[in-house]
Parts: sequence; C-alpha cells; structure tokens
Amino acid sequence: MRRHHRHHEGYKHPHKKHRLKKKLLFRIFFTFMLTAVLIIGGLGWLVHSLKPDHGLSPVAEKNAIFYLSSLQQKLNSSLSEKGIEDLYKDLNLYARVEGFESLADQKNLPTFNEIEKEDEHYSPKVVLGKHHEYFFAELKGASPRTAWFVSAKEIPRGFAFPFVAVAGFIFLILIMSFLTIRWMMSPIKVLMTGVKRISMGDLKYRIKTRQGGEFQVLGEAFNNMADGLEKMVAAKEQLLRDVSHELRSPLTRVGVAVDLLKDEAIKGSIKDDLKKMEELVAEILESYRLREGASSLKKSSTDLTELVTHVVEDYKDSAPGVVLKNPEDVSIVIDPMQVERVLRNLLENAIKYAKPQSVPIVVTLIKEKDGCVLRVKDDGVGIAEKDLAHIFEPFYRADAARSPGKSGFGLGLAIAKTIVEAHGGHIFATSQLGQGAEFTIHLPFE
Ligand code: ADP
Repeated sequence: MRRHHRHHEGYKHPHKKHRLKKKLLFRIFFTFMLTAVLIIGGLGWLVHSLKPDHGLSPVAEKNAIFYLSSLQQKLNSSLSEKGIEDLYKDLNLYARVEGFESLADQKNLPTFNEIEKEDEHYSPKVVLGKHHEYFFAELKGASPRTAWFVSAKEIPRGFAFPFVAVAGFIFLILIMSFLTIRWMMSPIKVLMTGVKRISMGDLKYRIKTRQGGEFQVLGEAFNNMADGLEKMVAAKEQLLRDVSHELRSPLTRVGVAVDLLKDEAIKGSIKDDLKKMEELVAEILESYRLREGASSLKKSSTDLTELVTHVVEDYKDSAPGVVLKNPEDVSIVIDPMQVERVLRNLLENAIKYAKPQSVPIVVTLIKEKDGCVLRVKDDGVGIAEKDLAHIFEPFYRADAARSPGKSGFGLGLAIAKTIVEAHGGHIFATSQLGQGAEFTIHLPFE
C-alpha cells in the first residue's frame, strides 16, 4: 500500500532538519579549524623554542662570514671609487668603505657610527641590523673597514611573499576543511534523505548502505525500522479493509429488519444512520480498490473541458455558486468517471467549507505542454498550516470541519489523491486559515 509524497506547501519538517544539520556542520568546522590552528601554533612554537636565544645559528654565521670575506676580496682587487660603483651595479649592493666614503655620503648611506648603534649583536664576528631603509652587514676586523647595505625598498617581494603565502595557506586550509567535512557528512546526508522520505509517507524508501563502517550499521538499522513501519501500516490497513468488508452483510440485514419497524420517525433516523455507515464502508473499500493502482482505471480519450463544464453546471445553484473561467480545450486520456468524482469532491468541499458571505468558487482549466492543470479556488474558511500537511490522509479532518452541518469522514481528499496519482498526476492544496483554499490538480498527457 504505497503512500506518495505530499505536494503542498504546509509541510515544515525538512526545513527544521536542515537547520539542525547546519549546526552540526558548523561544530565540525569549528573543531577542525581549532585543531588546525593549535597544530600550526604548536609547531611554530616548537620551531621557535628550538632556535638559539641570541645570535645567528653557527651555520648562518659561517655563511655570512664566508660571503662577506668574498665580497671584501672582490672589493680589494679593485679598490677605487670605480670599483665600488661597479659592485653597486653588479650586485645591487651598496658599500661604505673607509677612505672612499664620498660615494656613500652622496647616497646618504648610514655612517659607521649609526650602524654600530643599531647592531643587533647576533654575532661576535659580524655586525648585522637595520638602519632606516637599509639592512646592513659588516665583517669585523676587515680591512679596509667596509659596511654593506641593501635597501629594503629594493626587495619588496621579500615582504610580500610571507603575506601572500600565509593568506594562501589559510585559504587552502579553509577549502580543505570544507571538502573534508562535506565528505564526512555525506553518509549523514544519505540518512537525512531517508528520514525525510519516510516522514513524507514514502514508506517504501530504503537507503543504500555502504559496506563497512559505523554507517552501514546505522543504515541497516534505519532500513529495518522502515521495514517494521511498512509492515505495521500494511497490517492496520488490512484490518480496516477486512472490518469494512465484514460489515457489509450485517448492515444489509439490519436495513431489511428496520423496514419492518412500525414507528416511522425511529425508522427514518435509523435508516439515515445506516445510509451513512454504508457510504463509509463503500468509500473505504473503494479507496482500497483504487489504491491497487492504475490497472483499476477505465481510461478513454476524454474531452475534459466538456466534463468540467458539465460538472460545474450541476453546482451552479448551490451557494456560493461556481464559475468556470476561460477553460482551454483539453482532450486527454483519463478515467472520466474517476476524474469527475475528484472534481465533484473538491467542489462539494468548497461549498461545504464556504463562509456565508463567500464569493463564487472559481474553477480554471489550463492546457500545458505536458499535461493540464485543473484548479478549484474558494474563499471559504481556509485550512490552518498544521492541517494542510494532513488533509490528504484518510480520516483526517481539521477541527473546523467538525462543526455541525459539515459532515464527512475525511476520506474525500484521500480518495481524490489516490485517483489523481493513479493517473500519474499530483494534487496539492494551498491555503491560509480564514483566507479560502486552492486545490490544484496536474494530470499528465499519457
Ligand atoms: P471531509 O469529508 O471532512 O470533507 P475531505 O477528505 O474531503 O474530508 O477533506 C479533509 C479535510 O480537509 C476536511 O475535513 C477539511 O478540514 C479540509 N478541507 C477540505 N477542503 C476544504 C476547503 N475547500 N476549505 C477548507 N477546508 C477544507
């Protein structure tokens, strides 16, 4: 006994679950980022704490001494203003050389005094530091005394690099976290879909379980639960069907017996009740017959426009009246008796739940590319959002429908839905309490 999804806007649950999922996602994301920050911070701290407190590492110091001595040798091999200038050009290095300081002064390079003050005292053999825009290095005891300079402005990439790298790294971590979390969440998503489908009434839905892991166990448990639910619902439906079936003959016998009663008043009221019971039993059995599926339909090519016009005509005089607005020509293969029954049901509801001052019910028929759309719009009491989710369920009646004069079993819409879906179509309702209701049926062309 298949129950289909509900097509209506009052259904709220998936939305709620969605919010829950996002929360979980956020938590995992947060944990992930925190872990990443802690690991990176921890590593940074480790590297930092392993570094000698003061001075250059022995390797760096050796390299610096070697490099500075080579420079000094090169300088000494042509010790002149011209030689120094060539070095400027070749290596992009500036130098202040004792005895040849006019060039350095021209360029406003820091003086020996200034660099001595700024020396960071990393090393006993090398003077290192920064004065204004210049990084400087001097090999102690070199002759002639020479200080080498690099302008910080000439190595902008050196500064930009760490910034770009850090930003890139953070971006990479973000992307990786996002992808990993999505991957982690994917089995949960599969479960969510299952929960959603089952809660929408699709009891046949089963989730695909992956081999191995916790999620297989969970998935199997979920499917077992769905099996149980399906069996339970099927058993209840079978019970209802059997009881209805068994009630038919006793009802007929009571009917015959009642005819023998003399008191006409009592006879009339019992007969009325009997008639209602018989109708109920007939509707229940009919709804099960219809649910066996499309095979029970007696389809034929039908002029739907004519059918609708004809039915609407029948209700024209019942308050608040019915109008058919600009129906389009639709010829379609359907079971005309059943579709007529659906339309009558909708119209009878719209009349039953009309307000005293309601304007006439509006019926429209529109032809579309792949089918047709039939709408019944009333301006009656309307349906509360909490009821909208259930009105297509058998025996469901909104509170307002229980008031006197609004008799019914709550089966009409359930049967309508079964009929429409047996045609491969769908039906849904939109409404607001007190604002009328609109029922929409979509029937496909074959
Ligand atoms: P009923 O026999 O109670 O009319 P239905 O299955 O036809 O059973 O409808 C189910 C419920 O949906 C009704 O009890 C009523 O609460 C609500 N309903 C259906 N049609 C309308 C409508 N046009 N306006 C307001 N409520 C409606």
